Amino acid sequence: MECLSCAIVDGLIEPDGGVVVETEYFHAHQDVAYPIKGLVILASKRHITSFDELTHEEKLDYIDILTKIRKAQREVLGIEYVYYFYNEDTTHHFHTWMVPRYEWMYEFGRSVESVRPVLLHARENMNHDENIQEVKKAIHVLSQTLKVD
Ligand SMILES: [Zn+2]
Repeated sequence: MECLSCAIVDGLIEPDGGVVVETEYFHAHQDVAYPIKGLVILASKRHITSFDELTHEEKLDYIDILTKIRKAQREVLGIEYVYYFYNEDTTHHFHTWMVPRYEWMYEFGRSVESVRPVLLHARENMNHDENIQEVKKAIHVLSQTLKVD
């Protein structure tokens, strides 16, 4: 299989952290390589990489599910702020990282420069059982909340 994102969409590969929610055009999951509670990656099902390739229907679906996920993060996980990141020169499909902001992250800075050190810190120092359990619990409550909507 050439494209990992296509393999996930086709159900040939299970994403590591499990599915948070799925819509007609998008797929949301947690990347457990970066064990941050409430982190969500929202990816297009179609094999595209750039924002301007989205169809009208995909645009509507995107903003709708993005805001629903954001609302669920706030309401069930108490996440006050989220950083959004997407890069179009990806080997995966068009995808948006939704990275919740936690107090400990501010030691790495306040804006875009802090994103990489925060992710690396999580990968290197938070990859222990207790935190992984918390992360998985958060995925579960998010997916339950989004199912009800
Ligand atoms: Zn693909």
